[in-house]
Amino acid sequence: MITYPSTHGIFEQAIREMIEAVHTHGGLVYMDGANMNAQIGWTNPAFIGADVCHLNLHKSFASPHGGGGPGAGAVCCTEVLADCLPTEDKNRVSSALYGNANMALISWGYIAMMGAEGLRHATAAAILSANYMAKRLKEAYGIVYTGATGRVGHELILDCRQFHAIGITEADIAKRLMDYGYHAPTLSFPVHGTLMVEPTESESLAEIDRFCDVLLQIRQEIADIESGKADKEDNVLVNAPHPEYEVVADEWTHPYSRKQAAYPTDFVAQNKFWCPVGRVDNGFGDRNLVARF
Ligand SMILES: *Cc1c(COP(=O)(O)O)cnc(C)c1O
Repeated sequence: MITYPSTHGIFEQAIREMIEAVHTHGGLVYMDGANMNAQIGWTNPAFIGADVCHLNLHKSFASPHGGGGPGAGAVCCTEVLADCLPTEDKNRVSSALYGNANMALISWGYIAMMGAEGLRHATAAAILSANYMAKRLKEAYGIVYTGATGRVGHELILDCRQFHAIGITEADIAKRLMDYGYHAPTLSFPVHGTLMVEPTESESLAEIDRFCDVLLQIRQEIADIESGKADKEDNVLVNAPHPEYEVVADEWTHPYSRKQAAYPTDFVAQNKFWCPVGRVDNGFGDRNLVARF
């Protein structure tokens, strides 16, 4: 089973040889279709030699990444496996033959409205967006994986491990992003100590630029800790996010200003998203369910 392009966000150049090697030894290859947003209109699972794959309809064939589901996966296979596909009376794995059929309507609408050219364009835009971001952020953070051409696929992994030495973690960056009004990208997956961003084709250049500007400004906030300009233990990163009840409280003991905490740039001040709660203990929260009414 493979994911292509890989979860590291790159197109493995030897993918066809790898699959051929499996075939030579009598094996079959399942391709995880989660990253079809980097293939549609330019390449396809048959070209690399996959024998069976699913297409995450709620991802590549909906507004990426599908707004959180519900999901549906159309399974496609070669003739060798055709007899294994489910029909009305055999190989059924769920009581509904077509799974979550409502999802198929969304994907049908998306495909019909986009057209073949539109889908091809969306893939190109998704890959271009990721590479544009990688270029803008490469020097400040470092990109963990790049392909043979020095580029990424449709996603990029930002390295945050070099900040551990001064006590700043990828989680602090993720929390600080909330002060700027952003939900953090994928945290510590597939590589620990990183942030993985998949911009997709859906964001405008202005929005991508704004997100990059924020990440660069956060990098400057980290640099201020490195240089000693900001305190190592009491700074905007380790205390993030800064909820309204802290910012408007009578007492403010931090060495940085309330404005720096809550309105770090003009655009945030103009359209502030207030995080309803300050830093929580993630580990404790994951292990302890608290149901409150
Ligand atoms: C999203 C994703 C999955 C899971 O797919 P869902 O159908 O959304 O649960 C599996 N593999 C990869 C690489 C993915 O990105």
